[in-house]
Amino acid sequence: MRAWAVVENGKPLQEIELPTPEPTGTEVLLEVTHCGVCHSDLHIWDGYYDLGGGQKMSLVDRGVKLPLAMGHEIVGRVAKLGPDAKGVKVGDLRIVFPWLGCGTCATCLAEDDNMCAIATRALGVFQNGGYGSHVVAPHPRHLVDPGTLDPAIAATYACSGITVYSAIKKCMPLAPTQPIILIGAGGLGLNAIAVLRALKHQNIISVDVSEEKRQAALQAGATKVVDGNGDAQTVSARIIEAAGGPVPAIIDLVNGTATARFAFGALGKGGKLVQVGLFGGELTLPLPIMAMRALTVQGSYVGNPKELRELVKLAQDGELPALPVATVPQSQAYDALMRLKDGKVTGRLVLKAEAA
Ligand SMILES: [Zn+2]
Ligand SMILES: [Zn+2]
Repeated sequence: MRAWAVVENGKPLQEIELPTPEPTGTEVLLEVTHCGVCHSDLHIWDGYYDLGGGQKMSLVDRGVKLPLAMGHEIVGRVAKLGPDAKGVKVGDLRIVFPWLGCGTCATCLAEDDNMCAIATRALGVFQNGGYGSHVVAPHPRHLVDPGTLDPAIAATYACSGITVYSAIKKCMPLAPTQPIILIGAGGLGLNAIAVLRALKHQNIISVDVSEEKRQAALQAGATKVVDGNGDAQTVSARIIEAAGGPVPAIIDLVNGTATARFAFGALGKGGKLVQVGLFGGELTLPLPIMAMRALTVQGSYVGNPKELRELVKLAQDGELPALPVATVPQSQAYDALMRLKDGKVTGRLVLKAEAA
């Protein structure tokens, strides 16, 4: 197989030849047709996450091995089945769920693979992913049929899609008229507005520091927007005013010290703050208030195969507006990555295999 791989962190991707994996057991080998280029690929390529204050989290220390074909937003065509792989056939087009765990513990078997405590085997992070010609899914249950969806858009559901979908599910149940607050109106924020609208939610308040992004949020269907500039108390008060009272649910897609503070201050009794972004920082929690107001602060990271199937179903039902995507030949993976790094991308870049 061919791969456009990270051979050295921070250096151009190299086109290399690797042995094509032979599927065993329940494994399914797919020929990659599409793969989204995600912001987290830039961190994997760099080799570290910036934790702030000069601290870095090294990905090599966490078990990332080079050379690596990155890419976790994968769509491919089934090329070969292991002897125990059932339910798909050669030629089927499938979205590949990438957030794999050990595959055998109770958590994985309950299809909460992304929450596995034993192993993280995410495709494109700890195993070769969609920046290669082939990829292996450990089990057919990790494959989702995109149906008639544009495969370039369907690919993005595996990361950016389920990330917002899973966070929204953590806020539910809410009545459609109850306010849900989204902090950040970048790509994920606009995605979250689209998913909430598809779920027929009627009260969506978007918070951002940028006037331009607030306008984009309104265009995407936010009910109201709130200016995120100012000290925590001021922004909390603005959110409460826009919502007509302290709020039941907030999804923080930025999740930095400033946004976490004003989000926490806007929560009503029984309210929940779902933290998604990786901006970084810290939040001091007043403990008696946590108890007396019965508050919840919960993290959310990607999603599980059930959520991927639900999201794809929502899109297949025609409820989810298509995100802007641009395709790039897979052999130009490094160019695509650099365009993302330079901030020259609106919407999503998706690599497309020559044969696709
Ligand atoms: Zn991603
Ligand atoms: Zn597991």
